Parts: sequence; C-alpha cells; structure tokens
Amino acid sequence: MVMIDPGHGGDNTGALGICGIHEKNITLPIAQHLAKILRYTGRVKPWLTRNDDRDLNLDERAVLAHRMNASALVSIHANTAENEHAQGVEIYFLSLDANQRKREVRAAKDQSTTLQKILDANTINSQHRASQQLGFLMHTALKPWIRTTNTGLRQESMALLKKTNVPAVLVEIGFLSNPTECVALQKAIRQHEIAQAMAVGILRFIAAHVPMPP
Ligand SMILES: [Zn+2]
Repeated sequence: MVMIDPGHGGDNTGALGICGIHEKNITLPIAQHLAKILRYTGRVKPWLTRNDDRDLNLDERAVLAHRMNASALVSIHANTAENEHAQGVEIYFLSLDANQRKREVRAAKDQSTTLQKILDANTINSQHRASQQLGFLMHTALKPWIRTTNTGLRQESMALLKKTNVPAVLVEIGFLSNPTECVALQKAIRQHEIAQAMAVGILRFIAAHVPMPP
C-alpha cells in the first residue's frame, strides 16, 4: 500500500497562487489522479490521507502511513517563491540531520549516475536510504517537469517526514507564484501528466523494494 498525501485542506488552504487558486485545491485532484492510476495498474494499492476538503495535522498524516504499514508515503504540495520566474518540480526526501535543511543534492542536472553515487555514498539507515531511493526514482520520472535552476532533488528535515519510519518524499509539483505555472497547474491535462509521472516513480520504487505477492 502506498499512502498519498494531498497537502493542506479545510481551513489550512496552503499557499495562495498568483492566479487565485489555493494550494489545497490543486494537491487534492493530483493525488486523486495518482491514486486512480495506481489502482488501475493493480500493482499497488493507493490510500489517500484525505479524499475531500478537510485538514489533517502532520501527526495524523504520518501516523496514518505508519499504522497502515505503507510501503511509501508521497506528500503532494505546491511551491511559492518571491521570484515569479521560479518554476518546476522539486522533490524532497527525508533527512535525519536537521542541519542539512534545504541542502541541495549537488549533482549536474543530467548526470543521474553522479547523483546515484552521492546517494550511495551516504551512510544511513535503511529507511533513510529507501526515502533517498524513492526521491531519486521520483526525480527521474519527473525529469521533464524539473525546470528549476538547481537539480530539483533536495533533502530536508521536515516535520511530516521525520515523524514516520515509512520511506517518504514530498513532491512540490510547481510554483503557484509563477503566473504561467499557476494557470497550467489548474488544468486537468497538467494534473494528469504530473500524476502519471509520479505513478511511474512509485511503481519503480515498489518493484525494487516490495516483494510481489505470490
Ligand atoms: Zn504545502
């Protein structure tokens, strides 16, 4: 089972996009698309932390993933920045070291082998390693959408990710502060494309980490 977590909800609206949409109203349809795709493949059971417009606190989201023994937790959010040109997808995986906050994984954009080497070089526990692997696979799958000036893969000590021992990533699906991206992210076609790419990353992770039932 994979836990999909649409960020925010209810009174917790998340960021307000420059085009007028709230983050919570973009994360939910993308999560629902993603769940639909995963369910359709029959290879992994998706579960949503919320399937309507309600707020859950971080503990509830993490505890849910933990209690349901999820193989992975994928939290979906949207970015904002002061620079309205900031764009593209960013992926965060769990960092156990709070000092590594927002540290960019240093590697050239296209040199995935270098990136892999950096990931392998870290001596970390298996859960952290699994989170890194999930982040790496999501990064590869979402490559067409990664248009940030950095590598698009980061590790961060995040409250939600820290509270679970389930391999976890947080995907920022684009910048609501970017006028073009804000409009695009409201459209079903972009939401489907992002969801599809995330599904590819999740399925690759499941194939590598979770034994198939007999
Ligand atoms: Zn958010």
